[in-house]
Amino acid sequence: MPGGRVEWRARGVMIGEAVVHRLPLIMVVTSDLAGQVRGKGFPVTECDERLGKGVGYTFTNHMINCWGQIPTTPWGPLGDLVLMPDATTAVEVDFGDGSVAEHFMLGDLFHMDGAPWDCCLRHYLRCALHELESETGLQLVAAFEHEFHDGGLVERGADSYSLDKVRRAGDFPGAVLHALEAAGAEPETFLPEFGRSQFEFTVRPAPAMVAADRAIIAREMVRAAARRLDRDVSFSPQVDPAGPGNGVHIHMSFRDRDGRPVSHDASQPSGLAARMGSFVAGILKRLPALVAVTAPSAASYQRLKPHSWSSAYNNLGWRDREAAIRICPGPETPGADVASAFNVEFRAGDAAASPWLQLGILVRAGLEGIREGLPTPEPVSSDPDAMSDDERRRHGVERLPTSLDEALDRLERAPDAGTLLPGELLEAYIMHKRGELQTVAGLAPEEVCRRYRDVY
Ligand code: GLU
Ligand code: MG
Repeated sequence: MPGGRVEWRARGVMIGEAVVHRLPLIMVVTSDLAGQVRGKGFPVTECDERLGKGVGYTFTNHMINCWGQIPTTPWGPLGDLVLMPDATTAVEVDFGDGSVAEHFMLGDLFHMDGAPWDCCLRHYLRCALHELESETGLQLVAAFEHEFHDGGLVERGADSYSLDKVRRAGDFPGAVLHALEAAGAEPETFLPEFGRSQFEFTVRPAPAMVAADRAIIAREMVRAAARRLDRDVSFSPQVDPAGPGNGVHIHMSFRDRDGRPVSHDASQPSGLAARMGSFVAGILKRLPALVAVTAPSAASYQRLKPHSWSSAYNNLGWRDREAAIRICPGPETPGADVASAFNVEFRAGDAAASPWLQLGILVRAGLEGIREGLPTPEPVSSDPDAMSDDERRRHGVERLPTSLDEALDRLERAPDAGTLLPGELLEAYIMHKRGELQTVAGLAPEEVCRRYRDVY
């Protein structure tokens, strides 16, 4: 179990004429099946003790859906777990405005006897990475890119990528960058994205577990900055049926055990080294099923449509922003370190998913591809949507499911579903998502978007 020490500062804060003394509340949180961040808290004075013994949690908490309902659960009211804080993930961010600082740590879920719980998504990712590394010697490096909407922004008609859109956002971009930096998320860029009121930020790549932790923390930092500045942000994959979606794009590359980049092979037409090619092939082969996990809301399928710069087919693309996996450009200047910069970008994901689960299932599917020795897929250079069925078959490309319901059917029927989501996780996940779908069944697309917009 993780442990360690964290130093937190107590504060007295001026509010008007009064000083309000506060004993900081530390939250320990998990990212759950709904992709929500939930947990329990304790006063700072309890920190050392809680780092050793965690806080109590229960199985059915994982079945709380994104609207706070529990339509179905395999566990009922039974069972106890421990949510154990990992001190290495501690976040303490003060916005300097007198508001309560952000204090939280990510945690792992254990049974009472100290055994990890199958449905702890951090454990799930850790196991997948461990299997990848122990079988292949490959260490995954990743970076999550996030798009989101700032509903409070009043902009001109055509503010895509414009300087004025950033100006109109006032203190907000700077507050986000401050929070990301202070939380150790290493912000790299912030940009006024194409969609109305849409922004994007990127953070530096990191070893895969750190990258997924960082994605969870980064979303919370955007929400934290938004709260301080009275903004109305949403990471929901589609905030209205008409506009562009909010994607989560996951960049991936491999290092060997000595830290050398091993994803690139200059002798290959696509540049993918053989094992990276098999990893990509493993993901694309299973994508029609595993998209139920990477794009896990009813609104996600309003985003995954042709010609929306998201992805609608299970294709590999060379610098193609409509491919499910894009081979990203690296520097081409003389002497540039092409091998280090080389990476692929998974684009069929969104922020309704827990980053631990999302990256974990990509690793599991990719590792299956390596085990099977799959050849590197041929990058598709033309629009798969414009191809005939025969052409698509020749390219080995198929349309992704067009609804969460269909994606869940594909996942349930997948011969290796139990390898992708081992133990109790498959049953719990399918049950959770089927229950979520009942809530939005029969609603108009606008209303589906509105419901998810409120909670992501
Ligand atoms: N908004 C697009 C998506 O839903 C991505 C646009 C881009 O290439 O940045 O994934
Ligand atoms: Mg973007």
